This record gives sequence, C-alpha cells and structure tokens, in this order.
Amino acid sequence: LFITLEGGDGSGKSTQAALLTEWLEQGGHTVVRSREPGGTDVGVEIRQIVLHHRGEVSPRAEALLYAADRAQHVATKIRPALARGEIVIQDRYLDSSVAYQGAGRVLGAAEVRALSLWAAEDLLPDLTILLDLDETVARGRLDADNKVFDRLEAEKGEFHARVRAAFLALAADEPGRFLVLDAGASVGSIAESIRARVASLL
Ligand code: C5P
Repeated sequence: LFITLEGGDGSGKSTQAALLTEWLEQGGHTVVRSREPGGTDVGVEIRQIVLHHRGEVSPRAEALLYAADRAQHVATKIRPALARGEIVIQDRYLDSSVAYQGAGRVLGAAEVRALSLWAAEDLLPDLTILLDLDETVARGRLDADNKVFDRLEAEKGEFHARVRAAFLALAADEPGRFLVLDAGASVGSIAESIRARVASLL
C-alpha cells in the first residue's frame, strides 16, 4: 500500500504522516515513512542543491533534479518496501512536481507528469491525501514554524495560488486516488478522516 501526502508548505503533511504511521504500527503493520525531496542519501544531496540554490537553478533543471531524486527514491527504497509487503507513507511525490514545477514554474502539467512517471517507472500511489490550505492561513501559522514562513516568502503569492489550483485540479482528475481534506480543520479531525479512508484500503 503506497500512500502519499500532498499540499502546500505549512499544510500539516508531516504531522499527519507521523500520526498515520503511529496508528498503522499500533495495528501491527510495518510502515516505511519517507519524503521527497531527500528520501535517500543521493536524494539528500539533490535536495541541498535545489533548496540552497533557489532562484539560481533554472526551472527545467529544477524539474530534472526532482525527477532524479524521485527515480533514485522509487528504485532503491519505495519499490523494495512495497515488494516486501510494507506500507509506504510519503510526504510529497509526483503530484508535487506537477504542482510546483508544472504549474508554479509554468513548465506544463502534462510534460512534468510524463517526466515524473518516467522517473518513477509509472508507480502511482494507491491513495493521495491532499491537505488543501489557503495561503493566508498558512502564513498565520508562522508563529508555530518560522521555517514555513521563510519558505512561503521565497515565492510570490501567485506562485502559491497556482500550486494550490494545480493540486485541486489533479484531485478532480483522479477522484478515486485522492482524498481532499481542509488543512484548516483540527489535527484530530483530519487524522480521523485519513484513518477512515486508509482503513477501507487495508
Ligand atoms: O515538503 P518539504 O517541506 O520538505 O519541501 C521542501 C521544499 O521544496 C518546499 O518549500 C516545497 O515547496 C519545495 N518543493 C518544490 N517542488 C517539489 C517538491 C518540493 O518546489 N516538487
């Protein structure tokens, strides 16, 4: 079972991934929790390049670096875990590339999706949880996590609006794969909705 969490910065993906992992492990499941970018040793170095050279890396180079990170991650970590029958819970996957590079950097959703699928050898998640969050609400969370504020500040408001719209469009295209939740709801109620959906897949 391959589950991904998607959404903008500050939408609470890591919190929910941690809660879901804990719940599944308590139920006796073996869970591999991972993230992109940076889910492997090679990926950690790629993540440094992309995040430390923001504004310097060209959009296409950025898309290719994320694709390289994903190819390494899928080949060396995700596929082997799935083959062992483990549950993979992952912060960000190919939908992030379509939203950030495809829409945010305006490279085109179809092109970036094709590149991502090639990198991932066509591996799609069984379930993708989209934590949909209004950017103004995300900014309101800056007291809790200054890093989130720094990341949001790195790009203009329209960039985040394009990313959010792209995530929602992806969810509308594949309603069977996506569970869209309002990230402004309480941590507990979001966790409960996620558990209900995951339980139906176990
Ligand atoms: O999810 P995480 O906070 O680790 O993401 C790191 C940063 O990389 C975020 O600021 C996110 O906006 C960005 N990112 C991106 N394109 C992707 C994946 C992440 O711009 N495909």
